[in-house]
Amino acid sequence: MKKNKIIDFVVLGGGCAALSFINKVIDKKIKNFSFVIIEKRKKYYDDKSWCFWTEDKKQYDKILEKSWRSFSFNFKDKNNILTSNSFEYIYIRSISFYNFVISKISSKPFIELKLNEDVINIKFHKSYYQITTSRAVYLAKNVLDTRPNIDNFKKNPFMYQSFLGYEIKFKKQIDFNINNVYLMHNMKADNKKFFFDYILPINKNTVLFEHTIFSKNAFSEASIKKMLTRRLKIFNNNEFKVIRKEYGKIPMGIINKKALIDKNNYFFTGTLAGAIRPSSGYGFLNIQSWADQTTNKLKEEGKINSYFNNKVIEKYLDNLFLKIISNNSIYAPYIFYYFTKNIITETFIRFMIGNASFFDFIKVIYAMPKRVFIRCLIKN
Ligand SMILES: Cc1cc2nc3c(=O)[nH]c(=O)nc-3n(C[C@H](O)[C@H](O)[C@H](O)COP(=O)(O)OP(=O)(O)OC[C@H]3O[C@@H](n4cnc5c(N)ncnc54)[C@H](O)[C@@H]3O)c2cc1C
Repeated sequence: MKKNKIIDFVVLGGGCAALSFINKVIDKKIKNFSFVIIEKRKKYYDDKSWCFWTEDKKQYDKILEKSWRSFSFNFKDKNNILTSNSFEYIYIRSISFYNFVISKISSKPFIELKLNEDVINIKFHKSYYQITTSRAVYLAKNVLDTRPNIDNFKKNPFMYQSFLGYEIKFKKQIDFNINNVYLMHNMKADNKKFFFDYILPINKNTVLFEHTIFSKNAFSEASIKKMLTRRLKIFNNNEFKVIRKEYGKIPMGIINKKALIDKNNYFFTGTLAGAIRPSSGYGFLNIQSWADQTTNKLKEEGKINSYFNNKVIEKYLDNLFLKIISNNSIYAPYIFYYFTKNIITETFIRFMIGNASFFDFIKVIYAMPKRVFIRCLIKN
């Protein structure tokens, strides 16, 4: 790219939202703009296991790792297993997605991915932006900012979902049912945190075993490591090797939209703009829907828009749920267990993936364990 050329779109950050956007730009054959993605990491690695429910796993064929139709919740000695004929819970390794998009970019001269560049400063001039990174200066007509920023979340209600997962290869076959995802296994809580194991059996000898904590303050990797190590003692009679690890602290909260108003061709998306579901920490599908919608707009009108969520009832319920869980973590295992016990599987999934109808919302409200909910609401 020549010095001082004004780029049509500079994308700040090159993670899920940025690459999902570019993926759709390529798929929709949008060729009349130039794009530069600025990413601070030196290289991509398998840092995230993206899972979500879909009725159409075919569209992810090229990057799909595994899928399941059954998933379970476990609290004390009680097991609740949900199965669906229409939806599958699918697992995509982040590295498969990154490599898939990067290989598509490599044949597109109008898209450049700059690695190992930290965005340091952004300055608005009358008709363009000047973006200074640790290595270069770029001029852009439009900026799409995807750099997560925890300061954009409202302070209350707010929780972190902290977790450490090990992908483990066992010498002997595992006891887990490999056709089932253990979504919330061994749910427990105290006054400060709600915690459980998230277990994805990948094959007869391999699982992703994550210890997950919902709490007001984030847990460091080192502190979860101790808890995870204790949990893994259940496998003492089966020799194993940790082949990959995954640590995360996902913000679960409400975005302060005032700080993120589209102006002068500056746009926001991803975690930064509220694409992470406050009640669950899932974000991949929200990002895909936005990327699809905004690239349609780009193709038709030559413009993009920030991520937004106009689902009023969903936002209200997420907010309520988060408020109750964050202030009453001790009741969380009970609430999650009985909520999933009382609800029809497909309604639960549609709610989780942001596709709930009005009747689904009624069923969601009806499925909440009422006495605990009312007690929590009165208390807060
Ligand atoms: C470990 C983990 C597992 C998850 N699993 C799931 C899941 O199973 N299902 C689901 O639906 N959601 C999941 N999520 C939530 C969500 O889907 C992901 O966090 C997703 O990656 C969010 O995309 P993003 O683009 O907002 O952020 P990211 O993917 O984190 O991308 C932001 C990028 O910006 C870059 N960046 C930041 N600052 C700068 C800077 N100054 N200069 C240049 N680059 C910068 C970062 O390096 C990063 O690459 C998970 C999250 C985590 C952390």
